[in-house]
Amino acid sequence: MTIDKNLTDLLNDLYEGVYIIDKNRKIIFWNKSAEEITGYKADEVLGKSCKDNILMHVDKNGNELCVNACPMVFVMNNMVAISDEVYLHHKSGYRLLVKVKGIPIIENGNDSKGVIELFTPVILDVEHEKDLLNLALKDSLTKVYNRKGFDFLYPIRQREMTLLKLHTGILFFDIDDFKKINDTYGHEAGDKVLYAVAQIFIKSLRHEDIIVRWGGEEFVLVIFIKELQNIKIIGNKLIKLVESSFIEYNDNFIKFTLSGGGTFLKDKETIVQAIHRADLLMYKAKSEGKNRFICDI
Ligand code: GH3
Ligand code: MG
Ligand code: MG
Repeated sequence: MTIDKNLTDLLNDLYEGVYIIDKNRKIIFWNKSAEEITGYKADEVLGKSCKDNILMHVDKNGNELCVNACPMVFVMNNMVAISDEVYLHHKSGYRLLVKVKGIPIIENGNDSKGVIELFTPVILDVEHEKDLLNLALKDSLTKVYNRKGFDFLYPIRQREMTLLKLHTGILFFDIDDFKKINDTYGHEAGDKVLYAVAQIFIKSLRHEDIIVRWGGEEFVLVIFIKELQNIKIIGNKLIKLVESSFIEYNDNFIKFTLSGGGTFLKDKETIVQAIHRADLLMYKAKSEGKNRFICDI
């Protein structure tokens, strides 16, 4: 496909970022505004495929679009125009929210030769800022906080909770024999189990508690309580709740259990030290047969 000079001049004058991809998703045009918005010069992107790690669009939930769900492929295949808000990757490394419009280029009436995409940065309002914060601070699979989210949120929450004179309880959970679930039913089934476990935590705890995906199949819960005994009660309740749960996957009913350790934040120690102690107690629960909660209260 070739683009005529008059059209190029016109597109270069537009305030919107514009790029054109051909049938093979190769970028064949990149206007001046696209350079300004993304930080990438035309000669850095022309001839590349739009899925070659250049823009790496992600949706508001952090799902990568360019590999599995490219909206431009949808436009091309279905010969329909679409518009959406997505995050693109700026050359300097940050995510930028843009409004995109994809329009199929149709020649001879019945075949799509490519797509023209127009995009403009979205001016952030409070809702968008919340989305952006969630994207950076939450785990996209389980929707609970990631470690960065924990580092951000914990000091703020701790200050509030100290004013209320509440204890800080730490519960460290690890899914039992999770590798076996992946090996038996596949990674996707494993992901569903992770999601289910996180949902059980979310539904069982209070708004002010902090749920963190600490590592692969490990979760840290930081809870704020009046009575230290509540750590034991909540820990055991969560173990039982998970034990009685299951997910359905390809006609299989998959059951799963947790091992957990619980402790509380003592005077003059850091949260990291207390989490480490909860982690050791979780290992004790593993060595004593799994599917149990051990705490030092
Ligand atoms: P244990 O009962 O002693 O905890 O054994 P385990 O099998 O649960 O522990 P192990 O550390 O051997 O295996 C953890 C597995 O978790 C290995 C890793 O591939 C898997 N994993 C980590 N992150 C993810 C994820 O996001 N999705 C899925 N499906 N699997 C994950
Ligand atoms: Mg495990
Ligand atoms: Mg583990």
